[in-house]
Amino acid sequence: MLNQLTISELTAKLSSRECSAREAMQSCLDQVKRVDGQIHAFLSHDDARALADAEAADKEIASGTTHKQKPLLGVPIAVKDVLSVKDHPLNCCSKILGKYVSPYDATAIEKLRGAGAVIFGRLNMDEFAMGSSTENSAFGTTKNPWDITRIPGGSSGGSAAAVAADECSASLGTDTGGSIRQPAALCGCVGLKPTYGRISRYGLVAFASSLDQIGPFTKDVRDSALLLELMSGIDHRDSTSVPQPVPNYASALNGNIKGLKLGIAKEYMVGGMDPQVKAAVDVAVKQLESLGAEIVEVSLPHTDYAVATYYIVATAEASANLARFDGIRYGARVEGANPFELYCNTRGAGFGAEVKRRIILGTYVLSSGYYDAYYLRAQKVRTLIRQDFLKAFEKVDAIVTPTSPTAAFKIGEKSDDPLQMYLSDIFTISCNLAGIPGVSIPCGFTTNPKLPIGLQLLGKPFGEETMLKIAHAYEQSTSWRKEKPPL
Ligand code: GLN
Repeated sequence: MLNQLTISELTAKLSSRECSAREAMQSCLDQVKRVDGQIHAFLSHDDARALADAEAADKEIASGTTHKQKPLLGVPIAVKDVLSVKDHPLNCCSKILGKYVSPYDATAIEKLRGAGAVIFGRLNMDEFAMGSSTENSAFGTTKNPWDITRIPGGSSGGSAAAVAADECSASLGTDTGGSIRQPAALCGCVGLKPTYGRISRYGLVAFASSLDQIGPFTKDVRDSALLLELMSGIDHRDSTSVPQPVPNYASALNGNIKGLKLGIAKEYMVGGMDPQVKAAVDVAVKQLESLGAEIVEVSLPHTDYAVATYYIVATAEASANLARFDGIRYGARVEGANPFELYCNTRGAGFGAEVKRRIILGTYVLSSGYYDAYYLRAQKVRTLIRQDFLKAFEKVDAIVTPTSPTAAFKIGEKSDDPLQMYLSDIFTISCNLAGIPGVSIPCGFTTNPKLPIGLQLLGKPFGEETMLKIAHAYEQSTSWRKEKPPL
């Protein structure tokens, strides 16, 4: 079925006219119709527009445009509800945006469209990307395709579930503290967070601007490399995007990892890790060793402070970024007798509990008298965390860790305990604090129930090529990606 193919498999078929883009789009829409009632990855999809866009891609193919010129021509890609797609709804899974519709394309979207992608559908997420389970969406929880009593991870849970359930060829998500890698791990697909500054954030609704990055969810590493290449590069509309040349990432995927040094961080052997996850990761490390990588122990001594540091920096930035949702400029409005009442009424009714908790926390750590004790100190610790990584990367080419300490947990299991939820981010947040790239790839399953386990590789700043080369070599030496959820 066309919806199950990787991007490279699908574009080969489109090029040789074995199928049309319309058929590819239709097979995704059919799958959405068949399974999304159970999964709820999608918030909305406009089938008529998706099919019309696919037909336009078919016309281009018929008129001679090749996939060399437009590598995604006719490929159906769905998008997390935090990225602006012109004339599509944009809600960040919050009630506060009301009936807001994006007036423009995010740069990443513009680039994918330029490469011929058919952008369709809005994907579920935790409200404003705050969460690790997609339970904080104002529009209902997404279910894990492997077990619909469990969460898909978050905040990009819809993006991960949609790819795992073959409802699209690939999807986009965002990662501020693990929101691409953790749901990819829990749903069994490939999720990549690029180096900070690699992909423009223009058109991404900001959660924590110094941590946010856009990235792809794909069915294999090669597709991840392709989407990364197509979305990367400097953009004058995002001053934090970096003028670093964009390599052809896919050309680095040659399977040869002999002599590369892989770091294992001793501080990541934390208590509370599911023994089945630990066992799968240990086997994966052995596998990487048998492929020729050299395993080296490294130390990331400030790991213990990462969760606390992240939840200060991220909430501080969120409290500032979310100030714009005041009932005046965007989306929903709840009237009041004066402007102040209008703000309070709108924000009180529009934001969910977790978003309010973060705004309150963030405002507190930034307030005078507490700024030095919390925010400033967290910024200093953040620098120490980055230095830990830079020091480790003097010895190794990449670092390997579990992506998440457990497989997918039950819906409701942690939703009343924010601290437990925050602690589940232990392996993913340092990467954002340090600004380095990370990727999660499938590395096995738990038994009883059968749930995907993710392996995380962390790379040097702008070291995506080597990181993906290692991920690809591992992936090709295993067959985890071929397993499909029981839908
Ligand atoms: N789970 C983390 C949080 O709740 C990360 C979210 C993200 O990466 N957007 O903040």
